[in-house]
Amino acid sequence: MKLSHSPITQHRFQGVDFYLKRDDKLHPQFCGNKARKFLGLLELEAPAITTLISYGSVQANSLYSLAGLAAIRGWKLEYYVHRIPKWLQQRPTGNYRAALELGAQVMTTEYEAINHPHDHIVQVRQPDEHCLFIEEGGRSPFAEYGVRQLALELLEWIQQQPKQHWIIALPSGTGATSLYLQKALQPHDIQVITCPCVGGADYLRQQWQQLADTLYPTIIEPSHKHHFGHLYREDYQIWQQLYEQTHVEFDLLYDPLMWRCLLDWLPDHQPYSLIYIHQGGLLGNESMLPRYQRLCGE
Ligand SMILES: *Cc1c(COP(=O)(O)O)cnc(C)c1O
Repeated sequence: MKLSHSPITQHRFQGVDFYLKRDDKLHPQFCGNKARKFLGLLELEAPAITTLISYGSVQANSLYSLAGLAAIRGWKLEYYVHRIPKWLQQRPTGNYRAALELGAQVMTTEYEAINHPHDHIVQVRQPDEHCLFIEEGGRSPFAEYGVRQLALELLEWIQQQPKQHWIIALPSGTGATSLYLQKALQPHDIQVITCPCVGGADYLRQQWQQLADTLYPTIIEPSHKHHFGHLYREDYQIWQQLYEQTHVEFDLLYDPLMWRCLLDWLPDHQPYSLIYIHQGGLLGNESMLPRYQRLCGE
């Protein structure tokens, strides 16, 4: 299976011309930045491995991507979450539903003596040589390999364009994607800009320090505190405007904040040519959208 060369399309949003790297189009069950981050595992030669083990939120994009990876490789996926709400258990939706359909085993540690999923895996489950243990969200040096492929595709495309000053934008969770992208693009003098969606700038820098010793991406931040996974009318509004003006569906969890930060930042930083990385995550909209529609009384 080959995973590469997602298209690059051209758009205009609120008067800003930009290019969009369509990593949401990489593969039906294995797309977005999680596919880039897990590419090394897709290609890994490891005949002894039978089981992937990970943990995190029950609606995480990485749950679905790991389930896709496991299905492609013929591995089992054991995924530990702290808690699964009753209503969700009764009526699975979004990434959780799709992961179950791909055969993922999703287990709650809520009633266990050691109830933090990470500690439960390490101390109780105790992965052996047949298991591959993945940190939450793929925050790991193995992510560098696949993100480098993304950088190479971008460079190949950029070299075919007339000379201009490029800037690459994408939102960060763990920050692994933006960091490894900056690392790969640094020798070509291309700047990566990002915003912290989980925690603030300090948290993001801490994550980066743990991953690699390299130049960091440029951080742009919202003027108000923004809590991950909470609903904000401004986020929903910009998501709808994006759809109306570009006819592309963006993700509701990370992209709205990045675009809000970008629209503030860009006017003072001309003349850049912008490439935005679409990092997938659209299945998560299946659970986010009804919440927004309820909030906005639609
Ligand atoms: C996971 C994810 C991110 C964050 O990626 P990191 O490498 O953790 O910074 C951003 N957008 C989408 C859609 C994601 O699924």
